[in-house]
Amino acid sequence: MAEKNMAANPQLAIDLLKELRSLTGDDNGAQRLAWTPTWLQTREWFLGKLKQLPVEHHYDAAGNSWTTLRGASEKTLILGSHLDSVPNGGWLDGCLGVIAAYTVLKNICEEYNGKPPITVRLVDWADEEGARFGRSLFGSSAFAGTHSIEADRVRMDANGIKLEDALRQCGYNIDAIDDAKVERAGAAAYLELHIEQGPVLEKMGLPLAAVLGTKGVERHAITFHGQEAHSGSTPMQQRHDALAAAAKLALEIYSIAGKHKDAVCTIGSVKTYPGIVTAVVGRCECTLDQRDLDAGVLAEMYDEAQAKSRQFAEEHGCSVKWSRIWNIEPVPFHPELIALAEEAIRETTGTAHRMPSGPLHDAAEVARLGIPTVMMFVQSLRGISHNKIEDTREEHLLQAVTAFNRLAKKTIAWIEA
Ligand SMILES: [Zn+2]
Repeated sequence: MAEKNMAANPQLAIDLLKELRSLTGDDNGAQRLAWTPTWLQTREWFLGKLKQLPVEHHYDAAGNSWTTLRGASEKTLILGSHLDSVPNGGWLDGCLGVIAAYTVLKNICEEYNGKPPITVRLVDWADEEGARFGRSLFGSSAFAGTHSIEADRVRMDANGIKLEDALRQCGYNIDAIDDAKVERAGAAAYLELHIEQGPVLEKMGLPLAAVLGTKGVERHAITFHGQEAHSGSTPMQQRHDALAAAAKLALEIYSIAGKHKDAVCTIGSVKTYPGIVTAVVGRCECTLDQRDLDAGVLAEMYDEAQAKSRQFAEEHGCSVKWSRIWNIEPVPFHPELIALAEEAIRETTGTAHRMPSGPLHDAAEVARLGIPTVMMFVQSLRGISHNKIEDTREEHLLQAVTAFNRLAKKTIAWIEA
């Protein structure tokens, strides 16, 4: 494969990220919450950078920001991520991907004198985080057609402002967000660089990984019903202790998940009733979140957790009820693009690793449409994200931008072929 290999300018990406941090962050971290003045200011700043390139720009009906470099063919490579952040967020989540895509786009403009063989677009998805209205992946799900206007319309932020009204204040009409679908035209591949947001790569001592896909999620509320009873008068053998059953399940999930390489299970909330020091727990409500990239593994873990919960309930003279809170299928990325990402990483760092993503990303919405998609992860220090201490070593950021640029070039050749 003949591959042009003019270098992107990775240092420029770091300089821009620092500029953005000082413009939109404070002592508590990044404040680029979607649909707020700081977010709009972020986008204005970005628009100023884009104006230096021979590109077209517009915002679509759902607020996604599209920058287009027209090529000889209408077949389109899309590079993207999100500029919005959670409140008191980190300096890299989302904007690393957008700024890296910008430096790659700039590099492609220079390399092909403004006319690449295929069209290249950069997207900054609107409201990936969902931090204000509780609706993650807002813009990318409008693009994918997996949103619900009726459900979104009534969402409110902590101050009682409706999503519908916040959109209007930014110049968007919630009834029109479906029109973002037109942006799919020509899409031949989607690439996204993101920080890992977990501790796996740091533990392995690796800077980068090709991402296999986003894990599916099964999320359930589980309630154990026993019998409230006096803590002094009820002998241990005669109790119907709902917490004892729940506690066994809380430990059992370690062996349920432990049978599968990348599976995770979490009991994140446990509430006891009556919840006083002098009563045996009569009712215990907990939540279970299970994730894996393989739908079969996910189903197996769900069945096993259910069976174990019934067994533990019985052992403690209780009953158990399950109700689904939410679920999503696993979204595997494109095998050929995963291979290209791995190649780009190996050429940049000497080694490559493959891993699934636990968190959801805009890339999952794009991949669900059938558009060939892959992501690249760069190591997160201490595995911390959504926090002002979120960080990545500068040498790893430089490698990430270089590898992402390589991946973009390889993907252009792949689309052309
Ligand atoms: Zn993100």
